[in-house]
Amino acid sequence: MEIEKRDKKKVCKRCKESFSPSTNTPSSCRFHPSFFVCRRHDDQKRYYELGPDDPPYAAKFYDCCGAEDPEASGCTTSSHVSYDDDV
Ligand SMILES: [Zn+2]
Ligand SMILES: [Zn+2]
Repeated sequence: MEIEKRDKKKVCKRCKESFSPSTNTPSSCRFHPSFFVCRRHDDQKRYYELGPDDPPYAAKFYDCCGAEDPEASGCTTSSHVSYDDDV
């Protein structure tokens, strides 16, 4: 059997997982399009209501979806993007 060269494992520059181009589908890659940030949820992007007793100190969360767990699975799915691809 011939080894398909294009099917060499590549590393996704978004999720850092290795993948085979042949199994790369538009739902293969789960990622957060924004960074994990450490600051207040600002008024435009508040994902939860602060209670009257909650101090308004900096929160850590993903800027895209407000997930506060750095391990939270991505809020967006797309195909993996290898470092070779020019996007
Ligand atoms: Zn997100
Ligand atoms: Zn990926």
